[in-house]
Amino acid sequence: MIQRTLSIIKPDAVKKNVSGKIISILEENGIKIVAIKMLTLSRKVAEGFYYVHKDKGFFNSLIDFMTSGPVVVMILEGDNVIEKYRKLMGATNPEKADAGTIRKLYATDIEKNAVHGSDAVETADFETRYFFNAFEINER
Ligand code: ADP
Ligand code: MG
Repeated sequence: MIQRTLSIIKPDAVKKNVSGKIISILEENGIKIVAIKMLTLSRKVAEGFYYVHKDKGFFNSLIDFMTSGPVVVMILEGDNVIEKYRKLMGATNPEKADAGTIRKLYATDIEKNAVHGSDAVETADFETRYFFNAFEINER
């Protein structure tokens, strides 16, 4: 089934100058980018995005990190792309991520882990609308 999912190249990966390498992995795996932009998240925007984690011990540190520099946000499209992209990302903790995954290759640690990806149809719907208007999403 053709799906859409939200991807974020996080501030650590943008700083390391590996955004292009991450995008190449997506393209080499047949995933289409249908929307893309770079922006610097305000605390309010980052807190709203990660509201499900607001009671976690790492929340404030996560918001500090996510607002520490620009991010690249994208909507990815493809067959079963939610799960497919999560597999390409690898585990949240890069020490546990499989060889060749984006997080194994480019993450710093469990917090500064290079990329975000929606985890289900409902979260993908919320997250893509959170960052993009309908007229920013392209037909390909
Ligand atoms: P994922 O991004 O793999 O879906 P989660 O949704 O569980 O992971 O967590 C959201 C983000 O919060 C992670 O990508 C990571 O940046 C950060 N995070 C998760 N767990 C921890 C932790 N134990 N310590 C610090 N940061 C964490
Ligand atoms: Mg998550």
